[in-house]
Amino acid sequence: MSKVVVTGGAGFIGSHLVERLVADGHDVVTIDNLAVGRRSNLRAVERNGHFSFHALDLNDPSAAALFAGAHTVFHLAALADIVPSIERPESYFRANVDGTFAVVECARRSGVRRIVYAGSSSCYGIPDFYPTPETAEIRPQYPYALTKYLGECIALHWGKVYGIPSVSLRFFNVFGPRARTSGTYGAVFGVFLAQKLAGKPFTVVGDGTQTRDFTYVSDIVDGIVAAADSDVKDEAINLGSGGTYSINELVGLLNGPVQYIPKRPGEPDSTFADVTKAKRLLNWEAKVSFAEGVRSMLEHIDDWRDAPVWDAESIHKATEAWFRHLSTA
Ligand code: UDP
Repeated sequence: MSKVVVTGGAGFIGSHLVERLVADGHDVVTIDNLAVGRRSNLRAVERNGHFSFHALDLNDPSAAALFAGAHTVFHLAALADIVPSIERPESYFRANVDGTFAVVECARRSGVRRIVYAGSSSCYGIPDFYPTPETAEIRPQYPYALTKYLGECIALHWGKVYGIPSVSLRFFNVFGPRARTSGTYGAVFGVFLAQKLAGKPFTVVGDGTQTRDFTYVSDIVDGIVAAADSDVKDEAINLGSGGTYSINELVGLLNGPVQYIPKRPGEPDSTFADVTKAKRLLNWEAKVSFAEGVRSMLEHIDDWRDAPVWDAESIHKATEAWFRHLSTA
């Protein structure tokens, strides 16, 4: 049992990680500025004596004291989504780059023993190979992808220079209960589940044959814990499901009518992780099948009751900056 810090602990993946770490008997200090995260995501651990919550921005100097005596820092706090990162790049740099710098500095000054960084498969952009290994060229297509990659560079650099064992895990299309339900247009599951509840058609991009490496959140949490418990350092490691699934397959499992909307520039036709490195270094592989994961989302569909219901027209407006700024290269 040890003290650990989880940044972004009120977010989708962060809240699942916090639950797991508390269940494993750690003292979990959770920091989140609630820009994206929600207190309600932490309901299950709220009263647990091994859990504490601090509504604080990582760039706030008073966050430093919270790292004292921590063994491991799990740095998940970040702004997500493509469109707002194109419209407001400065907020993404402050949150994802400066925020990571603040965390690694706090970790260094507090003598933290290990950093686990939540990386993103978006660093691969449109890759040349599937499944995509960690050695693939880095090709961020928009500021979100760039800032998450810069955060990874910072986390791994601090690991090397200051001797704090550091690992970045590049998550592929994570889904599961509590996947963000409000705010900006993004992640397909939230969009489709809200449309299903409203009896509206699924807005399928392109012809729906594009595929994504949809990875269930409990598998991602297992991978994060495996990385924390390992002695692996200085590495970026893909965490993916081991498969890749088309949007048409997703529509088939969710079952409902479809409306087709235009393909976006800069979107890969596929995301598909080569997970050989995770197997070798972390002895990790995903366990939850795509069908099981989708079934569990349908069991939790009420979570999307208050989510915005997007349609072709509102998506057209919301993605205007995307079409304007990204090339079709
Ligand atoms: N997608 C879709 N309809 C939507 C939103 C997304 O068909 O309303 C598709 C999108 O084209 C992509 C996949 O769902 O192929 C996953 O999109 P998401 O934004 O969740 O992840 P990313 O594209 O960043 O991998």
